[in-house]
Amino acid sequence: MEVDKMDENEWRYHGEGNKSLVVSHVQLSIVLRLLKYPAEDSENPPQTVEQAFRQVQNIVDFSSNVMSCLLGEKFVHSGEVVKLPLEFVRQLSIKVQHQRPASRRDKVMDIYSGCALCLPNLTSPTLHQPTHTPTLCIEIKPKCGFLPYSKHVSQDIKTKVCRFCMHQHYKVAMGMWKRRSRYCPIDLFSGNRQRMHFAIRQLIEEPQNNLKIFKGGQCIFSSLEGIDDLMDLNSLLHHLRPYFQYGNNRINSHMTSKALLNDFIQVLVNALLSAGSGDGGVVMDRRGEGWSSCEASMFNKERTRHGSQGSPSNSVLSRLRQTQMLDTLDIEGLYPLYRRVEQHLQDFPKERTRLQMDGPYNEAFLEKLQKCPSDDDGSLEYAVSKVHQYRVAMTAKDSQIMVALVPSCEEEEDDEGLPSQRQLRDFVSSRPPAFSYSVSILDLDPKPFDNIPRQLHLDHNIVSCYLRSGCALP
Ligand code: ATP
Ligand code: MG
Ligand code: ZN
Ligand code: MG
Repeated sequence: MEVDKMDENEWRYHGEGNKSLVVSHVQLSIVLRLLKYPAEDSENPPQTVEQAFRQVQNIVDFSSNVMSCLLGEKFVHSGEVVKLPLEFVRQLSIKVQHQRPASRRDKVMDIYSGCALCLPNLTSPTLHQPTHTPTLCIEIKPKCGFLPYSKHVSQDIKTKVCRFCMHQHYKVAMGMWKRRSRYCPIDLFSGNRQRMHFAIRQLIEEPQNNLKIFKGGQCIFSSLEGIDDLMDLNSLLHHLRPYFQYGNNRINSHMTSKALLNDFIQVLVNALLSAGSGDGGVVMDRRGEGWSSCEASMFNKERTRHGSQGSPSNSVLSRLRQTQMLDTLDIEGLYPLYRRVEQHLQDFPKERTRLQMDGPYNEAFLEKLQKCPSDDDGSLEYAVSKVHQYRVAMTAKDSQIMVALVPSCEEEEDDEGLPSQRQLRDFVSSRPPAFSYSVSILDLDPKPFDNIPRQLHLDHNIVSCYLRSGCALP
């Protein structure tokens, strides 16, 4: 990519979240991720070019020096900061504006700094593709996969019903969504195939902002906030069918929708349980066992034949959950430590830099959070470490997993026109067919220190709303 020869016609709208807008290149497998500002700031940039540059550089540093070490390098692509011509950014902003969902237009793309993050396009990675079948990519925002066990938790319900399930009641009460999702992250992270299958089925039923599916880099399945749009499952099945019509099904000619969906989910479960690259033995992650079932989950527990075995410890789910579990105290236990740090910073504002409250996110930062004493000795250092750990956990709770799939590269037929091993295998017994996959984790931005009081407030609101709603009413 030559930064001085940027042409907005070579880029198209790809998607956006709360903090950034993403455009993808029409030919190269790369994306640009640009910052967003509240629309009321659109006349005046809320920060200088230097501050914007620092913010994007912080995102890269946090991802590459901190999150990548905790989650595993193979899952994390940190990208690089690029400086774009302002004219290109302005044209791009005009071009994409009409494609943006109405519910996201309360923010505008940053057209002042020219700073952006350049990343590989994870929805169309270059996997080994013998045929020209477009890559299927499944993006899951799994949210928090464990129940808090901290002694600081004041409401018993928090140790029984997971945050996501409680939050659903709150979101519907606040009018953010029309219906509650029956997805429960504790099921997805359980490592039990049946529970994982059930969880993914619920994501498909009610994707909210937890599931998107791409084909050849284009989004074919999602649900947009604020829009009461019953997603057309048939259209998804139509897209998926060519990928799963193998072996037995060729003879039966028509695979039922149910079998198709089951195969699709099974392939996804396999990828999520794998080590991402197929290496290493299977070691189960048994941390948190005994807390590993959420009372609000609609999964019928009698159906579990083998209990919760946990995910293989090198799988993407296990790595993500271990990082989320750096939130050891829960927001209720963390808040007093936040106050301790905040008090100190009020008295000694210059300490903010030494304590790396806003970066730089380098090895020293990682060391601070990893070398945390196990008990509170009343020190500032302890409080700072715990706050850093909590922020890292927050990032892991808010990130997305990308699973890219292409039908496996084995030859369809050998030279003599005999069926290949793979065809035989599919033919004889196995569904679903083999896929090559790659798994990544994205959206690994640092969460601001100053957001912590808001987290306490939100936690309180969610729990009160859940208790008021009569708890377990399905
Ligand atoms: P959130 O509101 O979840 O914090 P965000 O504003 O931080 O989101 P991202 O999640 O990073 O933004 O990006 C928005 C969307 O753009 C993602 O959901 C994903 O679909 C797409 N996207 C982001 N990065 C990439 C990438 N490297 N490759 C392909 N698609 C991407
Ligand atoms: Mg996101
Ligand atoms: Zn739950
Ligand atoms: Mg984000």
